Amino acid sequence: MNGNTKEIKYTLAREEMIELLEKYPFLVYRNIYSGEKTHDTLDEDIEYNEWTSWDGSGWEHIWKRYLTYLFIEYDKLNEKIKKDFMIFETKEKYGSFRCYTSFGNKEIFELENKLGMISKWTCIRCGKQPKNSKGQHIIWRTTGWICPYCKECFKKEISGNDWSKKKERKWQKDMLQECKEVKKRDFAMLHYDYNTETRISYGDLWDF
Ligand SMILES: [Zn+2]
Repeated sequence: MNGNTKEIKYTLAREEMIELLEKYPFLVYRNIYSGEKTHDTLDEDIEYNEWTSWDGSGWEHIWKRYLTYLFIEYDKLNEKIKKDFMIFETKEKYGSFRCYTSFGNKEIFELENKLGMISKWTCIRCGKQPKNSKGQHIIWRTTGWICPYCKECFKKEISGNDWSKKKERKWQKDMLQECKEVKKRDFAMLHYDYNTETRISYGDLWDF
């Protein structure tokens, strides 16, 4: 589930995409065991690749921003590591964006952590990052399959895209009530860095 809404936010022209895939070959889908390309034609590679993999999702913008930072770190790697560098998998898990790469260093792990943390308060459906009047992030989470939504998308999600006052039913009200809106938190996130765990205050929040 990636909350696909079919609206692509950052598209690249064909020539730009070809250039990007040449410069960053890890964007091309490959079998992670054999290294063989998944698609046969250039047209398929242009349409289906890591850059476009979250197109239309609420997380498209954070994914593409993450990638642009990953490009910078990739450029610093030595040729041997570059050659074997791959993105093994990207997915939503427990309401956060997970990205697994074949090689990591401090900077790359840090980026993966940032992506995961920022995704937790980014609506998976529309990409909004709602805040309260104090500037703190507020997000609605579905229970069961945990996913972050802004309030509007959350309502749509639990009512099958057909939410209105008239159609509001008791179970929907109850569910809205049950779901936790994060209003007060004395820290913004947990930040993991190898063996240490530090808390970062709102004032220290970085952004992509
Ligand atoms: Zn939303």
